[in-house]
Amino acid sequence: MGKRFVDLIKYQVKCIFEAIYPHADKCICCGEDSEDVICRKCRKNIFLIDNSIKLSEFDEYVYPCCYYSYEMKKIILKFKYEADFYAGEELAHMMAQKISRLNIDDALLTYIPSSKSALRKRGFDQCEFLCRKICSEIKVKYKNLLVKSSDVKEQKALSRRERIRNLKNAFMVNEDLSGRKIILIDDVITTGATLYYAKKALEERGAQKVLLVAVAKSTI
Ligand SMILES: [Zn+2]
Repeated sequence: MGKRFVDLIKYQVKCIFEAIYPHADKCICCGEDSEDVICRKCRKNIFLIDNSIKLSEFDEYVYPCCYYSYEMKKIILKFKYEADFYAGEELAHMMAQKISRLNIDDALLTYIPSSKSALRKRGFDQCEFLCRKICSEIKVKYKNLLVKSSDVKEQKALSRRERIRNLKNAFMVNEDLSGRKIILIDDVITTGATLYYAKKALEERGAQKVLLVAVAKSTI
């Protein structure tokens, strides 16, 4: 058999394999060959945040895993808009590490639910996925506690002031949370308004402590 023919077969097998397992040997950030899901070069540009960050618009602290670098943005977009679950697993791993460092016993994990239109578009709830993966890695349970009110508009299209108005009555909690400790997660936060008002809704139902954890903090 000629070498060119063998190479052609090899190439076709590789293409089929990549169609089934698209990230088997490529970095999800830069697309370069890599045995790891994120290559060493890209991982160097993911800057972990050790502590909490104060939200400038609220008297509130949030625990983001990382700064919103170019690499983090790529991973998050791949996960959210291309349903790349390798990317999702990496993000969940970062969050699990962050949450275990918070050292809170008996906390219940919950999340900001996607809007119905986002769910229809994407086919999955990214924060629910993150919760599920975090629970498979560390000893914590999750539950969907927050229900979005039906008249909430998509945040993306709104100005900063409109966003806050939109969020004030955005969440409902249908159960008594007296004395419960909650870890509330979201993916990317900008002003932190969504987390802030969701936390208020949980506290109104009796939550004793609510810690806010995000994948990344964007300054935009
Ligand atoms: Zn890379």
